[in-house]
Amino acid sequence: VLSVRGMVKRYVDATVLDGVSLDVREHEVVALIGSSGSGKSTLLRCVNLLEELDDGQVLLDGVDVSDPRVDADVARRGMGIVFQAFNLFPHMTVLDNITLAPRVVHGVPRSEAERNAHELLARVGLADRAGSYPEQLSGGQQQRVAIARALAYSPRLLLLDEITSALDPELVGEVLALVRELAGNGRTILMATHEMGFARQVADRVVFLDGGRLVESGPPEQVLGEPVHPRTRQFLRRVI
Ligand code: ATP
Ligand code: MG
Repeated sequence: VLSVRGMVKRYVDATVLDGVSLDVREHEVVALIGSSGSGKSTLLRCVNLLEELDDGQVLLDGVDVSDPRVDADVARRGMGIVFQAFNLFPHMTVLDNITLAPRVVHGVPRSEAERNAHELLARVGLADRAGSYPEQLSGGQQQRVAIARALAYSPRLLLLDEITSALDPELVGEVLALVRELAGNGRTILMATHEMGFARQVADRVVFLDGGRLVESGPPEQVLGEPVHPRTRQFLRRVI
């Protein structure tokens, strides 16, 4: 589904991604791990074309969507992204949050967008909250709405960036349960996470980033259990 090739991203004073190549196959769940500043969010933002690459390519189903001639809005329909926090538009209802982009950016008729939104809300267990405003929901419910919004175009690929890290501990479980369910339904997911236990349970593959480089990648039991690279071992000693 996704192929990242030689991705390079530089900011004025630093190279944040230094030639990262990574594939995510259909139905695969890939967890990105690495210390703060290792480039996980930048990678997800570059894949979602929210940032311009300095080098390399992003192929979605074989199409080079990083080509400047490709319309990023169209390419993004193939991907849904959920961020750490502050995802939702605070002045809009849950329903409007989910239907805004389909209606305004992609011209989906309101009735169709709303029907789809109600279905998505039912899927994330919030059928009765369509008329609520974000501040009336718990953090966990807000993240489930953000996931519903990311699913609005039936994306080929779901990008999740530490979606539980801003939540109170007792709300983490409900969001992880939803991700687990999506994974079980065969969704293709690339997720940055610091929940090592969750990565071990749900991911088919774990990718360790360090200083903008892909250091190690493999099945969770290998990367998290018997890492080969000293940097991976050092990282895991600190977080587990
Ligand atoms: P965390 O686990 O804390 O979320 P991360 O792995 O997601 O970290 P990134 O957010 O991708 O890390 O950041 C990687 C590096 O890029 C950091 O050193 C950060 O300071 C730098 N960086 C990110 N965005 C910008 C920006 N807009 N301008 C300059 N530097 C940036
Ligand atoms: Mg991040």
